[in-house]
Amino acid sequence: MIFMSDVANKILFIVIDGASDRPVGGKTPLAHASKPNLDALAFGGINGIMDTIAPGIRPGSDTSHLALLGYDPYKYYTGRGPFEAAGVGIDVKGGDIAFRVNFATVENGVVTDRRAGRIADTDSLASAINERVKVPGVEVIFKRSTGHRAALVLRGKGLSPAITDTDPKKEGLPIKECHAVIDTPEAKRTAEAVNSVSRQVLAVLDGQPVNRERREKGLPPGNAILIRGGGEVPHIPSFEQRYGMKGAVVAAAGLIIGIGKMCGLEYLPVAGEDSVDPPRRVRAKVRRAIEALQTYDFVLLNVKGADEAGHDGDFDRKTRFLEDMDDAFRPLKDLKETLIIVTVDHSTPVSIKDHSADPVPVLIHGPGVRTDRVDHYNELIAHQGGLCRIRGMDIMPIALDLINRTKKFGA
Ligand SMILES: [Zn+2]
Repeated sequence: MIFMSDVANKILFIVIDGASDRPVGGKTPLAHASKPNLDALAFGGINGIMDTIAPGIRPGSDTSHLALLGYDPYKYYTGRGPFEAAGVGIDVKGGDIAFRVNFATVENGVVTDRRAGRIADTDSLASAINERVKVPGVEVIFKRSTGHRAALVLRGKGLSPAITDTDPKKEGLPIKECHAVIDTPEAKRTAEAVNSVSRQVLAVLDGQPVNRERREKGLPPGNAILIRGGGEVPHIPSFEQRYGMKGAVVAAAGLIIGIGKMCGLEYLPVAGEDSVDPPRRVRAKVRRAIEALQTYDFVLLNVKGADEAGHDGDFDRKTRFLEDMDDAFRPLKDLKETLIIVTVDHSTPVSIKDHSADPVPVLIHGPGVRTDRVDHYNELIAHQGGLCRIRGMDIMPIALDLINRTKKFGA
């Protein structure tokens, strides 16, 4: 007898940000939520639990997404600066030195407010910095983010991330001088560039109309920047080089978009970027991701909302979000020739209001995938499935093998 092979050739990789939890009264939001669509995928697929980095390591969303995409975070994660800069939409390049930045208030030489009264109206300030702050031989790229936050990139030859922050961490102190932490011309040159940017920004921003208005209203002006978290943007081999697949990312959070882009995934926008996806946008994102499978071999879909409810310690809101999201997942059952992976980047237990190292559930569904007896998608029973317990870096190799794209090891 000859069997026609039934094989998937596309991968839809869904990450439900921060969805898993620790039990409260024996239940977790995932185990408590009514979610017929995810449960059907669990029933028809193979299940397990996963340490996204390693057992006992509390992941950030950035390090965990790197691992899920098969990039070792211990090799490629070079600090928050580069990932924040990519996240706010700066097209970072390998070798750039990137920083996290706060707008701050400086009066009489000392920092009087490290967040400039949580200033939000920073468009004109960012433009002024980009137009007027110059460092010979170094390209200065500045971009505002939400609220008082922003990112700074220094691009050029002979730069180094081995330098200190300028944030004094306390009000009442002057902005710190940036110093080289190793004795190399590159580190010294970068420290000088940072100090030069820091001084020029003070001169450029103080008289800006936004700041004059703020002073008139008795608000602290955003007339300085505090620069920290410097890191070198890693040279990351692109997803296509690595896996021979064309990939795309559908996400709302800047950080995830930035990581996707750094790994060479095409960013497919869905209207409205925010830290929480309302049900309407989850549906739009699912539609966008399914459409994208016509063009791309691999689509990463990150859904955001459960994580925020976890950080707020709100069990009911987390549960409701998961139920609404599940409803948006209804079209998934009609996907053909597609491997569907559903997992979580880290647990965000409502009881601790932060990320934890508790392993996350993972399911793989699609043609040719072995099934197991797990019939609900949640972190309490997933370990009974055929995947047992794996690590985040394992998932891409497993998925590639299931679509017959791995090379044989040995004869
Ligand atoms: Zn996350």
